[in-house]
Amino acid sequence: EVFRQPAEIEFRDVSFSYGNQKVYEHFNLFIHPGEKVALLGVNGAGKTTLVKLLCGLYEPDEGKIFINGVDTSTLPKRTLYDLFSIVFQESTILPYPVGCNLSFKRLSETDEERAWTALREAGLEKTLREKGVGLDTFMTKAAFDDGLTLSGGQTQRFLLARALYKNGNILILDEPTSALDPIAESEIYEEYVNISKGRTSLFISHRLASTKFSDRILYLENGKIIEEGTHEELIALGGSYAHMYKIQSHYYTETPCNLNSLEA
Ligand code: ADP
Repeated sequence: EVFRQPAEIEFRDVSFSYGNQKVYEHFNLFIHPGEKVALLGVNGAGKTTLVKLLCGLYEPDEGKIFINGVDTSTLPKRTLYDLFSIVFQESTILPYPVGCNLSFKRLSETDEERAWTALREAGLEKTLREKGVGLDTFMTKAAFDDGLTLSGGQTQRFLLARALYKNGNILILDEPTSALDPIAESEIYEEYVNISKGRTSLFISHRLASTKFSDRILYLENGKIIEEGTHEELIALGGSYAHMYKIQSHYYTETPCNLNSLEA
């Protein structure tokens, strides 16, 4: 039941604090099966906490969280964990072979076909095959001088492949904040669109690129949804989201001019 795809998520009257710092109070949210939701808001708004509550890393002080109508507090942690494919920003590539890095299992327990399918879907198969890389190739230079190293964009793809290998029915992506050039960034967003097809997905957004293909944007402030809607709706609303959007697009387009004026 809880594994039904695509998943439906509900936060019902959820309250949560870190010690005496309240983050959520009587918070309600319903995410439809297959919906792609972008979580936005300044640092400290509560985006990460929301995701951690959903994954069972924290438990609500009050209220309940349901996945496909099942109260997640009644599920064994292992079952809950199996539901998610997550790419957190702190996700890293470990000094182990490619296959182990995808499956988090021994190479002998890694499903070869599933691994290559995940790499293909993340747009990395060709690059690796051309380099002569196999599932047994060691990654990173930490352990071996000739270990495989990946560029920023390739690393993001690899982390996606890891999420695809796991094949959880809820996809959670903490967007890369920087370190990607604009081309790598727009390519990785295409990959996000592809892999989130048919999956209930949550994007923690730092940049605004993913908001355009999200079905719904939630703009959080102090643990409350202060604006919600599509990109177009929120731009038309002219509130905090529109303001953030204006600042970011301003920042991107004005930078060269500012540099010019500095030189002048
Ligand atoms: P966001 O992801 O939107 O930046 P967070 O969910 O990380 O926001 O944080 C929400 C609030 O909870 C912030 O005020 C933050 O300082 C606080 N907070 C986050 N993690 C912890 C923690 N481990 N201990 C205490 N306070 C925390």
